[in-house]
Amino acid sequence: NEQIVLAKRPEGVPGDDVFRFEEVEVEQPSSGEVLVKPLYISVDPYMRGRMSDAKSYVAPYELDKPLQGHIVGEIVESKDDAFKEGDHVVGVLPWQRYITVTTDRISKIQNTDVPLHLYLSTLGMTGQTAYHGLLKIGQPKEGETVVVSAASGAVGSVVGQIAKLKGARVVGIAGGEEKVNYLTETLGFDAGVDYKADDFEESFKTAVPDGVDVYFENVGGEVSDVVLKQLNTFARVPVCGTISSYNNREEDIGPRIQGILVKTQALMQGFIVGNYSDDFEAAGKELAEWVQNDRIHTEVSIEEGFENVPKAFRYLFEGKNFGKQVVKV
Ligand code: NDP
Repeated sequence: NEQIVLAKRPEGVPGDDVFRFEEVEVEQPSSGEVLVKPLYISVDPYMRGRMSDAKSYVAPYELDKPLQGHIVGEIVESKDDAFKEGDHVVGVLPWQRYITVTTDRISKIQNTDVPLHLYLSTLGMTGQTAYHGLLKIGQPKEGETVVVSAASGAVGSVVGQIAKLKGARVVGIAGGEEKVNYLTETLGFDAGVDYKADDFEESFKTAVPDGVDVYFENVGGEVSDVVLKQLNTFARVPVCGTISSYNNREEDIGPRIQGILVKTQALMQGFIVGNYSDDFEAAGKELAEWVQNDRIHTEVSIEEGFENVPKAFRYLFEGKNFGKQVVKV
């Protein structure tokens, strides 16, 4: 058995020296436990925050302990009558080749007719994030303009597609021509804008002739500065993440947008998906329906091999992932 532990707290983008591979025994499950073999390991931007010890909504990863996150796996041995060998499960689990856990930490995947990695994306945490952030805080109305950044990614792609289902005009922001074309050609967005292009601000203004009613914030930084200048009166800004600053050595304070908030009377609200857990079941059903009726498309980038989990994690900050990044073990 092998696990990946946090060897040190990163400064900047986590290099290989932040992760240490260690040999450990496979623990035999006792009563109420199961042995899980991971099939897909999720890598997510929020993990960068947990690698540091700064104050946050979730405890930092402990040094010299295995990193953990959402994993879809198969049960290889069970000491709990509710789970049998071959069952597929999902849970927040340590990065290990074999994991012994009590069954209160996993849930059984009931529908295995869809690709299992969807339970790490649209039918899992990132789908829930998009759903609640957009519908509860963004509250898009028919005909309004919804803008989303990191638009081709796991959360952003679902935000834009749900906004389309609600009758909004959707503009996505992403890095590079290939991703921008994907937004309009595959996801059905009304426009895509490349934030890496020299004329980003001009192209963005052209793409939102009626201004911005909802801005679903995933990246922060300079992209955000450009979008916020186009907010309409009573706009809503669900702040989901600010990935552009996650590897900064100091907290990114600013831009000074309070003036914009006063003038537009806009609402800007940060949120954490876990806060909506009471509604996960209902949202999960709706998301599953959309997925099965091909109303929501999910792109996935699959990196092969447990040894490549750290590399796949870094892809998120390099924009090398296309859609949800997972590692197939
Ligand atoms: P994505 O699949 O969107 O992957 C990350 C993407 O971010 C990259 O592909 C890249 O896209 C973009 N990116 C990376 N660096 C920068 C940068 N410096 N400037 C602009 N864009 C950048 O990840 P997720 O969908 O999982 O996460 C998206 C956001 O949602 C993150 O901020 C994350 O922290 C947040 N989140 C928040 C949750 C919550 O509960 N609040 C829960 C889950 C996610 P490109 O190539 O287009 O640059």
